[in-house]
Amino acid sequence: MRFTFRQIESFPGVTQADWQSWAWQFRNGLSTHEQFGRYFRLTESESEAFKRNPGFQIRSTPYYAMLASRDDVKDPVRRMIVPTALELRRDGQQVSDPLGERKHSPTERIVHRYPDRVLFLVTDQCSLYCRYCLRKHFTGQDQAFVGSKDYEKALAYIRAAPGVREVILSGGDPLTLGDGRIERVLSDLRAIEHVEIIRVGSRMPVVCPMRITDDLVAIFKKHKPVYFMTHFNHPAELSADAALALEKLVDKGVPVYNQMVLLNGINNHAAIVQALSRRLLYLRVKPYYMFQCDPSEGSEHFRTPVEESLQIQRELWGRLSGLAMPNLSLDIPGGGGKVGMVPDFETSNTVEARSYEGWDGVKGVYSAPEGASALPADLDTYLEEWNQIVQQPYGRG
Ligand SMILES: *Cc1c(COP(=O)(O)O)cnc(C)c1O
Ligand code: SF4
Repeated sequence: MRFTFRQIESFPGVTQADWQSWAWQFRNGLSTHEQFGRYFRLTESESEAFKRNPGFQIRSTPYYAMLASRDDVKDPVRRMIVPTALELRRDGQQVSDPLGERKHSPTERIVHRYPDRVLFLVTDQCSLYCRYCLRKHFTGQDQAFVGSKDYEKALAYIRAAPGVREVILSGGDPLTLGDGRIERVLSDLRAIEHVEIIRVGSRMPVVCPMRITDDLVAIFKKHKPVYFMTHFNHPAELSADAALALEKLVDKGVPVYNQMVLLNGINNHAAIVQALSRRLLYLRVKPYYMFQCDPSEGSEHFRTPVEESLQIQRELWGRLSGLAMPNLSLDIPGGGGKVGMVPDFETSNTVEARSYEGWDGVKGVYSAPEGASALPADLDTYLEEWNQIVQQPYGRG
């Protein structure tokens, strides 16, 4: 919404209509040293990163660059897009495919790690490259939209796997694709009977909110249920434009969830997570995950210790609405999948009773009940019936 002096100064001749057009934002992305130099007073360390090529694409939308500070190198938004010489480090735990996705890929572009859901990497492109990206081995390699042969193979894989109830469109950022392609992917997936849920993972509300148009939202609504997973890391990213984009989605009935990543010096503090989560909840976005940063190449300086994350979570527990509380999780390096973490409130346990000390120090005991389990022996028959009505709009006739 804001059309600032800095925007006009950096892009002479830009109109309000240009600025609000996602095609313009994509076309005018900044990627070279010289382009970044026009927006930012670059430090030596930042300039060195441009000269020595950190091995991962550099790119930002003009919109996102304008959220960052021109002079302050500690600015959280700036640190997520402007590379520094720290990315050239190769010490510590750094691996090219930290989640072991290659070995869980039964066919190109599909990652199948959990029984009932798969990732479908429809493109490797993003409108902006986050310096800590976990999928650097794939993202931004210029493969763009999946080729038609791989696309058909990926669909065939999902079709032949009736246990897959959910498909998560990821990448890259699926919304770098045009509406026509998105419509096609969603209709192809909806044609598969056992696919119940489609998730779209996209950073567009954060980095290019203009991409969330009425036409796009109508496509999601047409193919419901489509869940939208976005990725805000800091309250400074929640601009008026971002709020409008999120409102468009939720007003049309598209549920929006947020997955954040804890990043050193950017958001690794309880007060920052709290401010972000409260604002998201107010905008009707459910904070879903709070991830440890994965050890991808060039990300060592972004990672934070698990102890600190547990401390942040403990500080927020009880003080932050349960609706706004993200689940703390990490991916086991090498492909072990996600592990969830919750504060340990238990002080002792026996079969008869478990003792707890709550978030503000109040203690209590929960005793095991007297008596045996009362579940019916023919439970399986009911379960089968309930599982069959999942896709009927109004449940049992
Ligand atoms: C994270 C992830 C999912 C989704 O997991 P949820 O806990 O359901 O959000 C699915 N597949 C892969 C490979 C993942 O890494
Ligand atoms: S939007 Fe996601 S895939 Fe793209 S660079 Fe950022 S973290 Fe990586």
